[in-house]
Amino acid sequence: MKRVLITGGAGFLGSHLCDRFIKEGYHVIAMDNLITGDLKNIEHLFKLPNFEFYHHDVSKFIHVPGELDYILHFASPASPIDYLKIPIQTLKVGSLGIHNCLGLARVKNARVLIASTSEVYGDPTVHPQTEEYWGNVNPVGPRGVYDEAKRFQEAMTMAYHTYHGLETRIVRIFNTYGPRMRLNDGRVLPAFIGQALRGEDLTMFGDGSQTRSFCFVDDLVEGIYRLLLSDYAYPVNIGNPDEITIKEFGEEIIKLTGTNQKLISLPLPKDDPKQRQPNITKAQELLGWEPKVNRAEGLKITYEYFKSLPNDELYKMADHRGF
Ligand code: NAD
Ligand code: UDP
Repeated sequence: MKRVLITGGAGFLGSHLCDRFIKEGYHVIAMDNLITGDLKNIEHLFKLPNFEFYHHDVSKFIHVPGELDYILHFASPASPIDYLKIPIQTLKVGSLGIHNCLGLARVKNARVLIASTSEVYGDPTVHPQTEEYWGNVNPVGPRGVYDEAKRFQEAMTMAYHTYHGLETRIVRIFNTYGPRMRLNDGRVLPAFIGQALRGEDLTMFGDGSQTRSFCFVDDLVEGIYRLLLSDYAYPVNIGNPDEITIKEFGEEIIKLTGTNQKLISLPLPKDDPKQRQPNITKAQELLGWEPKVNRAEGLKITYEYFKSLPNDELYKMADHRGF
């Protein structure tokens, strides 16, 4: 049985990856310090003999007994309100955390895949974004703690590949959504759906002309799985190129939820990227991958998930974890 370590395994994406690797017959070790994740996301796996959970901060030395075939480094705060509240931890998990994972991988002779992000392109001046674009990031702006941590993480991973011959993979993930997102994580989709469910107006930042391209989580997981098993060590964009303005997106959520509320405009956060759309030619050619779930289907599934949550989830404050 192949063994995989998934850091950030109790988070939104990490927990879906745990499910996928369990389904593929792996022994899965999820590691998480629960700073933005939740054990509820993986509690259905606890009874399985081929699943283990380690409560650990990966910015500190990592010890895992036994062999490892793969390490997937997904631990990191991921939403702007999270990484603005815990900027130092964000920088540490992207630097010390990946260093620990890469060191562990050398000892275990394992292949490492890291979760990078479309944020490495910053506020892009090339559109759609290809992997060859170097990005436009403000290192000392508020988003710099996340963007630069991820850029450092890519550089460190590539250095281990080049200088130590380690097997590495880099996925640049574009905005992904689906069940198990935290309703209060501040990202636009849970924010809008949460507001609609609570009967509040939907808070559009700026005039809503900025764009994003939203990928359903199952499509992302499939792309990551294929990339891990491929032989390509350079970054690959995984995302859904179906681009939409935030204003149009808000209107879609209003229609989907049937709410009587309206979109209201709040100030645009500093350095908020104006447009974002993945060029996925590489993923198509190298992995034979492209997204299958369109936004209407994906949003419906995600809305059903949020509707099924207990009422107290709906009213939890964003800072309920105390940071
Ligand atoms: P998430 O917050 O749900 O998951 C992150 C998980 O990492 C959480 O469970 C958290 O507790 C854990 N974690 C954070 N710091 C840790 C540490 N020091 N030690 C151990 N565990 C730690 O966010 P997500 O959306 O699932 O994102 C997962 C990964 O994917 C992140 O690396 C993120 O940067 C990347 N990513 C996500 C998206 C997206 O759209 N969801 C886009 C680009 C990149
Ligand atoms: N956004 C918004 N209202 C919200 C939360 C976010 O209009 O309540 C906007 C945000 O300014 C950005 C887009 O939606 O332009 C996507 O934001 P998110 O935080 O989901 O992801 P990211 O900016 O990291 O792509």
